[in-house]
Amino acid sequence: MPKSMGLKMSLIASKRTGQNSPRWQETPSYNAVHLWLRKTYGSAIKCEECEKKREEGMIHWANVSQKYLRDRTDWKQLCVPCHKQLDKPWLKLQRDSKGKFKKNVQRL
Ligand SMILES: [Zn+2]
Repeated sequence: MPKSMGLKMSLIASKRTGQNSPRWQETPSYNAVHLWLRKTYGSAIKCEECEKKREEGMIHWANVSQKYLRDRTDWKQLCVPCHKQLDKPWLKLQRDSKGKFKKNVQRL
């Protein structure tokens, strides 16, 4: 642990204001955190990987760690192809027998 971090934590501990947690809920639901994201940072407008813009295709907020943290660094604005690459297998787009993407794709 970096020194500054230890100092911060001991400061927090010494305050003892009675507040439960300085952070957000530990395990917010996906929807709640997604709402928070849109409210705080707006809709995703540009892919952070390939710089594609919304006018050129759909851009989603994609979660990086799968922990759905209320933390901007845990989220990326990604276009569909980049999002697909980032996603874990259980989130990958489903294809039908002809290899086309199915319509009921999970939207983020
Ligand atoms: Zn992209």
